[in-house]
Amino acid sequence: ATPTALMVGTGRGAQLGILIKGPEVLESTRRVDTVVLDKTGTVTTGRMELVDVLLAPDQDRAEVLRLAGALEHSSEHPIAQAVARAASEAGKLPEVEDFGNVEGLGVQGIVDGHAVLVGRTKLLEEWSQYLPEELAHAKEHAEAEGSTAVAVGWDGQARAVLVVADTVKPTSVEAIVQLKSLGLRPVLLTGDNEAVAMKVAAEVGIDEVIAEVLPAGKVDAVKKLQDEGRVVAMVGDGVNDAAALAQADLGLSMGTGTDVAIEASDLTLVRGDLRAAADAIRLSRSTLRTIK
Ligand code: ADP
Ligand code: MG
Repeated sequence: ATPTALMVGTGRGAQLGILIKGPEVLESTRRVDTVVLDKTGTVTTGRMELVDVLLAPDQDRAEVLRLAGALEHSSEHPIAQAVARAASEAGKLPEVEDFGNVEGLGVQGIVDGHAVLVGRTKLLEEWSQYLPEELAHAKEHAEAEGSTAVAVGWDGQARAVLVVADTVKPTSVEAIVQLKSLGLRPVLLTGDNEAVAMKVAAEVGIDEVIAEVLPAGKVDAVKKLQDEGRVVAMVGDGVNDAAALAQADLGLSMGTGTDVAIEASDLTLVRGDLRAAADAIRLSRSTLRTIK
Protein backbone atom coordinates (compact mmCIF):
# COMPACT_ATOMS: atom_id res chain seq x y z
CA ALA A 1 0.00 0.00 0.00
CA THR A 2 1.57 3.21 -1.08
CA PRO A 3 1.19 5.93 1.53
CA THR A 4 0.29 8.40 -1.21
CA ALA A 5 -2.76 6.46 -2.41
CA LEU A 6 -3.93 6.06 1.17
CA MET A 7 -3.43 9.76 1.79
CA VAL A 8 -5.48 10.56 -1.29
CA GLY A 9 -8.16 8.19 0.00
CA THR A 10 -8.13 9.98 3.33
CA GLY A 11 -8.52 13.33 1.62
CA ARG A 12 -11.41 12.02 -0.48
CA GLY A 13 -12.99 10.79 2.77
CA ALA A 14 -12.92 14.29 4.17
CA GLN A 15 -14.84 15.50 1.12
CA LEU A 16 -17.47 12.82 1.76
CA GLY A 17 -17.83 13.88 5.39
CA ILE A 18 -15.78 10.96 6.67
CA LEU A 19 -13.02 11.68 9.16
CA ILE A 20 -10.39 8.96 9.10
CA LYS A 21 -8.02 8.55 12.07
CA GLY A 22 -5.09 7.46 9.95
CA PRO A 23 -4.38 6.23 6.42
CA GLU A 24 -3.92 2.65 7.69
CA VAL A 25 -7.60 2.56 8.71
CA LEU A 26 -8.66 2.21 5.08
CA GLU A 27 -6.80 -1.09 4.89
CA SER A 28 -8.74 -2.68 7.73
CA THR A 29 -12.11 -1.88 6.16
CA ARG A 30 -11.34 -4.09 3.18
CA ARG A 31 -12.29 -7.46 4.68
CA VAL A 32 -15.36 -6.24 6.57
CA ASP A 33 -18.40 -8.45 5.86
CA THR A 34 -20.72 -7.47 8.72
CA VAL A 35 -21.90 -4.07 9.87
CA VAL A 36 -23.24 -3.90 13.41
CA LEU A 37 -25.43 -0.86 13.95
CA ASP A 38 -26.38 0.67 17.27
CA LYS A 39 -30.06 1.64 17.19
CA THR A 40 -30.57 4.82 19.18
CA GLY A 41 -28.83 7.82 17.68
CA THR A 42 -27.29 5.78 14.89
CA VAL A 43 -30.15 4.25 12.90
CA THR A 44 -32.71 6.50 14.57
CA THR A 45 -32.47 10.25 15.16
CA GLY A 46 -32.18 9.66 18.91
CA ARG A 47 -34.41 12.66 19.40
CA MET A 48 -37.18 11.06 21.35
CA GLU A 49 -40.37 12.74 22.39
CA LEU A 50 -42.51 11.90 25.39
CA VAL A 51 -45.75 10.65 23.88
CA ASP A 52 -47.61 9.19 26.85
CA VAL A 53 -47.62 8.85 30.64
CA LEU A 54 -49.30 5.63 31.81
CA LEU A 55 -50.21 5.67 35.49
CA ALA A 56 -50.57 2.99 38.12
CA PRO A 57 -53.82 3.39 40.14
CA ASP A 58 -53.96 6.53 42.31
CA GLN A 59 -50.88 8.13 40.82
CA ASP A 60 -50.62 11.75 39.79
CA ARG A 61 -49.34 12.57 36.31
CA ALA A 62 -47.84 15.93 37.30
CA GLU A 63 -45.97 14.40 40.25
CA VAL A 64 -44.64 11.54 38.09
CA LEU A 65 -43.39 14.03 35.50
CA ARG A 66 -41.88 16.31 38.12
CA LEU A 67 -39.88 13.61 39.94
CA ALA A 68 -38.91 11.59 36.87
CA GLY A 69 -38.14 14.77 34.91
CA ALA A 70 -35.89 16.13 37.65
CA LEU A 71 -33.91 12.88 37.71
CA GLU A 72 -33.66 12.57 33.94
CA HIS A 73 -32.43 16.15 33.76
CA SER A 74 -29.06 14.81 34.97
CA SER A 75 -28.84 12.09 32.32
CA GLU A 76 -27.67 12.45 28.72
CA HIS A 77 -29.64 9.46 27.43
CA PRO A 78 -32.05 10.38 24.60
CA ILE A 79 -34.93 8.93 26.63
CA ALA A 80 -33.91 11.14 29.56
CA GLN A 81 -33.78 14.25 27.42
CA ALA A 82 -37.28 13.64 26.10
CA VAL A 83 -38.63 13.17 29.61
CA ALA A 84 -36.75 16.15 31.08
CA ARG A 85 -37.85 18.41 28.22
CA ALA A 86 -41.52 17.51 28.63
CA ALA A 87 -41.30 17.83 32.41
CA SER A 88 -39.61 21.21 32.39
CA GLU A 89 -42.25 22.51 29.99
CA ALA A 90 -44.83 21.53 32.60
CA GLY A 91 -43.09 23.29 35.50
CA LYS A 92 -39.92 23.99 37.44
CA LEU A 93 -37.92 20.88 38.29
CA PRO A 94 -36.61 20.17 41.81
CA GLU A 95 -32.95 19.45 42.62
CA VAL A 96 -31.55 15.91 42.60
CA GLU A 97 -29.22 14.43 45.21
CA ASP A 98 -27.08 11.31 44.87
CA PHE A 99 -27.77 10.96 41.18
CA GLY A 100 -26.57 7.69 39.74
CA ASN A 101 -26.53 6.16 36.30
CA VAL A 102 -27.12 2.41 36.34
CA GLU A 103 -25.43 1.30 33.12
CA GLY A 104 -27.85 -0.03 30.56
CA LEU A 105 -30.73 0.01 33.00
CA GLY A 106 -31.62 3.56 33.93
CA VAL A 107 -31.09 6.21 36.57
CA GLN A 108 -31.62 6.70 40.27
CA GLY A 109 -31.48 9.58 42.74
CA ILE A 110 -33.14 11.41 45.58
CA VAL A 111 -35.73 14.00 44.55
CA ASP A 112 -37.71 15.94 47.16
CA GLY A 113 -36.78 13.27 49.71
CA HIS A 114 -38.00 10.40 47.52
CA ALA A 115 -35.70 7.64 46.23
CA VAL A 116 -36.65 7.73 42.54
CA LEU A 117 -35.86 5.19 39.81
CA VAL A 118 -36.43 5.58 36.07
CA GLY A 119 -35.50 2.89 33.62
CA ARG A 120 -36.07 -0.68 32.55
CA THR A 121 -38.54 -2.81 34.50
CA LYS A 122 -35.51 -4.88 35.49
CA LEU A 123 -34.06 -1.91 37.37
CA LEU A 124 -37.23 -1.39 39.41
CA GLU A 125 -37.51 -5.12 40.07
CA GLU A 126 -34.03 -5.07 41.58
CA TRP A 127 -35.62 -2.85 44.21
CA SER A 128 -38.71 -5.06 44.47
CA GLN A 129 -40.86 -2.54 42.64
CA TYR A 130 -43.29 -4.37 40.35
CA LEU A 131 -45.62 -2.84 37.79
CA PRO A 132 -49.27 -3.62 38.47
CA GLU A 133 -50.55 -6.10 35.88
CA GLU A 134 -52.62 -3.65 33.87
CA LEU A 135 -49.77 -1.19 33.65
CA ALA A 136 -47.38 -3.95 32.59
CA HIS A 137 -49.82 -4.82 29.80
CA ALA A 138 -50.15 -1.20 28.71
CA LYS A 139 -46.36 -0.99 28.60
CA GLU A 140 -46.08 -4.13 26.46
CA HIS A 141 -48.73 -2.75 24.15
CA ALA A 142 -46.82 0.51 23.68
CA GLU A 143 -43.64 -1.46 23.00
CA ALA A 144 -45.37 -3.73 20.51
CA GLU A 145 -46.34 -0.54 18.67
CA GLY A 146 -42.67 0.34 18.43
CA SER A 147 -42.40 2.89 21.21
CA THR A 148 -39.88 2.74 24.01
CA ALA A 149 -41.32 2.62 27.50
CA VAL A 150 -39.52 3.11 30.79
CA ALA A 151 -40.83 2.57 34.28
CA VAL A 152 -40.88 5.10 37.11
CA GLY A 153 -40.92 4.21 40.77
CA TRP A 154 -40.16 5.77 44.11
CA ASP A 155 -40.28 4.89 47.77
CA GLY A 156 -40.61 1.19 47.09
CA GLN A 157 -43.43 1.37 44.57
CA ALA A 158 -43.68 1.29 40.77
CA ARG A 159 -45.83 4.27 39.80
CA ALA A 160 -45.90 4.89 36.10
CA VAL A 161 -44.61 4.13 32.64
CA LEU A 162 -43.28 6.86 30.38
CA VAL A 163 -43.68 6.23 26.68
CA VAL A 164 -41.22 7.85 24.33
CA ALA A 165 -40.91 7.47 20.61
CA ASP A 166 -37.93 7.90 18.38
CA THR A 167 -37.91 8.02 14.60
CA VAL A 168 -35.74 6.34 12.03
CA LYS A 169 -33.45 8.82 10.24
CA PRO A 170 -34.72 9.43 6.71
CA THR A 171 -31.26 8.44 5.40
CA SER A 172 -31.09 5.09 7.23
CA VAL A 173 -33.25 3.11 4.80
CA GLU A 174 -31.08 4.03 1.84
CA ALA A 175 -27.92 3.43 3.87
CA ILE A 176 -28.96 -0.16 4.58
CA VAL A 177 -29.82 -0.74 0.90
CA GLN A 178 -26.32 0.49 0.01
CA LEU A 179 -24.57 -1.60 2.67
CA LYS A 180 -26.40 -4.71 1.48
CA SER A 181 -25.54 -4.00 -2.13
CA LEU A 182 -21.89 -3.88 -1.07
CA GLY A 183 -22.36 -7.44 0.14
CA LEU A 184 -22.39 -6.56 3.83
CA ARG A 185 -24.70 -8.08 6.41
CA PRO A 186 -26.29 -5.45 8.66
CA VAL A 187 -27.02 -6.36 12.28
CA LEU A 188 -29.04 -4.15 14.64
CA LEU A 189 -27.61 -4.09 18.17
CA THR A 190 -29.43 -2.40 21.03
CA GLY A 191 -30.06 -2.31 24.75
CA ASP A 192 -33.67 -1.58 23.94
CA ASN A 193 -36.35 -4.26 24.02
CA GLU A 194 -36.92 -6.86 21.33
CA ALA A 195 -40.23 -5.44 20.02
CA VAL A 196 -38.85 -1.94 19.47
CA ALA A 197 -35.71 -3.39 17.93
CA MET A 198 -37.71 -5.61 15.53
CA LYS A 199 -39.91 -2.72 14.49
CA VAL A 200 -36.95 -0.46 13.69
CA ALA A 201 -35.15 -3.33 11.94
CA ALA A 202 -38.18 -4.01 9.75
CA GLU A 203 -38.51 -0.33 8.92
CA VAL A 204 -34.96 -0.08 7.59
CA GLY A 205 -34.61 -3.59 6.17
CA ILE A 206 -32.33 -5.30 8.68
CA ASP A 207 -32.92 -9.04 9.24
CA GLU A 208 -30.51 -9.73 12.05
CA VAL A 209 -31.32 -8.26 15.47
CA ILE A 210 -29.54 -8.48 18.82
CA ALA A 211 -31.67 -6.75 21.45
CA GLU A 212 -31.82 -6.21 25.22
CA VAL A 213 -28.06 -6.26 25.65
CA LEU A 214 -26.33 -4.45 28.48
CA PRO A 215 -23.54 -2.05 27.47
CA ALA A 216 -20.91 -4.70 28.34
CA GLY A 217 -22.94 -7.10 26.20
CA LYS A 218 -22.36 -4.95 23.12
CA VAL A 219 -18.65 -5.85 23.16
CA ASP A 220 -19.52 -9.51 23.71
CA ALA A 221 -21.93 -9.45 20.78
CA VAL A 222 -19.19 -8.07 18.52
CA LYS A 223 -16.71 -10.67 19.85
CA LYS A 224 -19.20 -13.46 19.26
CA LEU A 225 -19.64 -12.45 15.61
CA GLN A 226 -15.85 -12.29 15.26
CA ASP A 227 -15.55 -15.76 16.80
CA GLU A 228 -17.93 -16.97 14.10
CA GLY A 229 -15.36 -15.75 11.59
CA ARG A 230 -17.08 -12.54 10.62
CA VAL A 231 -15.12 -9.34 10.13
CA VAL A 232 -17.08 -6.68 11.91
CA ALA A 233 -17.57 -2.96 11.43
CA MET A 234 -19.49 -1.37 14.28
CA VAL A 235 -21.33 1.93 13.98
CA GLY A 236 -22.32 3.72 17.17
CA ASP A 237 -22.73 7.07 18.86
CA GLY A 238 -23.03 6.55 22.58
CA VAL A 239 -20.83 6.20 25.62
CA ASN A 240 -22.19 2.66 25.83
CA ASP A 241 -20.92 1.89 22.33
CA ALA A 242 -17.28 2.87 22.96
CA ALA A 243 -15.97 -0.55 24.04
CA ALA A 244 -17.71 -2.29 21.14
CA LEU A 245 -16.33 0.30 18.69
CA ALA A 246 -12.83 -0.45 19.96
CA GLN A 247 -13.41 -4.22 19.78
CA ALA A 248 -14.72 -4.16 16.22
CA ASP A 249 -12.36 -4.66 13.29
CA LEU A 250 -13.47 -1.23 12.20
CA GLY A 251 -15.18 1.28 14.51
CA LEU A 252 -17.33 4.02 12.97
CA SER A 253 -18.76 6.79 15.13
CA MET A 254 -21.41 9.39 14.43
CA GLY A 255 -20.06 12.94 14.42
CA THR A 256 -23.28 13.88 16.16
CA GLY A 257 -22.50 11.43 18.97
CA THR A 258 -20.51 11.52 22.18
CA ASP A 259 -16.76 12.32 22.36
CA VAL A 260 -16.08 8.94 23.97
CA ALA A 261 -17.51 7.10 20.97
CA ILE A 262 -15.62 9.34 18.53
CA GLU A 263 -12.35 8.70 20.38
CA ALA A 264 -12.91 4.94 20.41
CA SER A 265 -13.58 4.79 16.67
CA ASP A 266 -11.31 4.58 13.63
CA LEU A 267 -13.56 6.65 11.48
CA THR A 268 -16.17 9.35 12.11
CA LEU A 269 -19.23 10.01 9.96
CA VAL A 270 -19.20 13.76 10.44
CA ARG A 271 -22.83 14.51 9.61
CA GLY A 272 -24.27 11.50 11.42
CA ASP A 273 -25.59 10.26 8.09
CA LEU A 274 -25.41 6.47 7.94
CA ARG A 275 -25.01 6.55 4.15
CA ALA A 276 -21.46 7.76 4.79
CA ALA A 277 -20.71 4.30 6.26
CA ALA A 278 -21.34 2.82 2.81
CA ASP A 279 -19.28 5.62 1.25
CA ALA A 280 -16.41 4.79 3.62
CA ILE A 281 -16.40 1.13 2.66
CA ARG A 282 -16.69 1.94 -1.02
CA LEU A 283 -13.85 4.44 -0.68
CA SER A 284 -11.56 1.97 1.05
CA ARG A 285 -12.23 -0.63 -1.60
CA SER A 286 -11.51 1.74 -4.48
CA THR A 287 -8.46 3.19 -2.76
CA LEU A 288 -7.02 -0.26 -2.24
CA ARG A 289 -7.81 -1.28 -5.79
CA THR A 290 -5.74 1.71 -6.93
CA ILE A 291 -2.86 0.50 -4.77
CA LYS A 292 -2.87 -3.14 -5.72
P1 ADP B 1 -29.54 2.07 23.71
O1 ADP B 1 -28.56 3.16 23.25
O2 ADP B 1 -29.60 1.02 22.65
O3 ADP B 1 -30.88 2.62 24.12
P2 ADP B 1 -28.63 1.83 26.53
O4 ADP B 1 -27.70 0.83 27.10
O5 ADP B 1 -28.22 3.26 26.56
O6 ADP B 1 -28.92 1.31 25.02
O7 ADP B 1 -30.02 1.71 27.30
C1 ADP B 1 -30.66 0.50 27.47
C2 ADP B 1 -32.03 0.71 28.08
O8 ADP B 1 -31.88 1.12 29.47
C3 ADP B 1 -32.82 1.80 27.44
O9 ADP B 1 -33.52 1.36 26.30
C4 ADP B 1 -33.77 2.18 28.59
O10 ADP B 1 -34.82 1.24 28.70
C5 ADP B 1 -32.88 2.06 29.83
N1 ADP B 1 -32.24 3.34 30.17
C6 ADP B 1 -30.93 3.65 30.09
N2 ADP B 1 -30.70 4.92 30.51
C7 ADP B 1 -31.90 5.43 30.85
C8 ADP B 1 -32.35 6.70 31.34
N3 ADP B 1 -31.53 7.72 31.59
N4 ADP B 1 -33.68 6.85 31.56
C9 ADP B 1 -34.53 5.85 31.32
N5 ADP B 1 -34.18 4.65 30.85
C10 ADP B 1 -32.89 4.42 30.63
MG1 MG C 1 -26.88 4.86 20.99
